[in-house]
Order: sequence, then structure tokens, then C-alpha cells
Amino acid sequence: MMQRATFLAAVLFALGLPGFSSAWGQDAKPAETYQVVKPPACTNNKGETVGFVETSRGRPGIAAGMARRDPGGKPVVMRSNYSATPPVFQSFIDRHECAHHQTGDVDRPHPPRNGPEHLMNESISDCIAILRLRDEEGYDKAGFEKVAGALRSEMEKIGFPEISISSRISNITNCFKRPGTSKDFVNKVLKRRGLLEQ
Ligand SMILES: [Zn+2]
Repeated sequence: MMQRATFLAAVLFALGLPGFSSAWGQDAKPAETYQVVKPPACTNNKGETVGFVETSRGRPGIAAGMARRDPGGKPVVMRSNYSATPPVFQSFIDRHECAHHQTGDVDRPHPPRNGPEHLMNESISDCIAILRLRDEEGYDKAGFEKVAGALRSEMEKIGFPEISISSRISNITNCFKRPGTSKDFVNKVLKRRGLLEQ
């Protein structure tokens, strides 16, 4: 099932902290739910249209996305528990997962979890996601802060260490200031990987 999938929350899960959320989950306030946003357009590096599929799998109360090919070979983003997170962060997850398709991650051998190559792929996807929100959805500084705030709260919810949270926010902060479009950035990555199709 998990073949060549990339998972936004994978880093968090791999870090473990088993039982952490259930330990304090009892006293947590009732979970807020949000309307689920419409998915963005998404095309992979081979020009295939990427579908977005709702799934109830995944950890309850934790919104997550997963980029993969379905059993029929169609590129998809699985969206789980999106109603658990605000629309701005749903939009970020969609574009982050789409980025794994745009950069060809999904069809490449999966690097060791939490190794440098995996973390680099995650940083790249985060970067593309924030650039798309900036360039296509018109997110300004205030919009950016909403995404960063939601990213922080989602990561805290799962029990991420502060260093992981701040480094991820620092990455998207720098990306948000980048000149050039998300497409330019995707092409740069594809070129480096020898995947740029003419
Ligand atoms: Zn990812």
C-alpha cells in the first residue's frame, strides 16, 4: 500500500512519540472542524493530471496528505482528515503533495526516511507549496503568517521538537522571498535531477 508514497506527516510519525497525543488528548478541548477546500490544479513532471482523493485513513484529528500512484498507476494525492486543520493549511498540504508529483519524487526510489535526501525533498515541496500560494493565490505577508502559524500548531499537536518546527518555518520564510515563480523552481529541481523534459 505504501509503495513509493511520500507523506507530509512522515517525518513526524517517524520521529515516533508513540502514545504522546493519546496521553494528553483526553483533556484537549473538543476538536474544531473546518470546511474542506477545493483541490488545486496539479500536473506531474510527465504531464499527467494528478487526482485528489479523500480518505478516512490516517491518524484521527491529524490532517495529512500523501502523494503516490494508485494501484491503477494514476498519480494521486490522498487527503486524510483535512477537516481537522484550517483551510490555509489544507491548501498548503495539497500543494506540498502536488510538489512531490511535480518534482518526480513519486516515481523515484524512496530515500531513507528522515535521511538528508528525504528532508531535502520535504524542504523542496514546502518551498514549491508556499511559492504557489504566493503567486497563484496572492498570499501576502499576512497570508504567509497564517500558513506558518498553522504549520506550527499542527507540528506542535503531533509533538515535533521546536528545532524541527523552526527550521521548517525558516525554510518557507526564505522561499516566500524568492524571486521567480514556483514553476521556475520546479524546473530548476527537475533539471538538477535530469528530469526536465523538453
Ligand atoms: Zn512531503
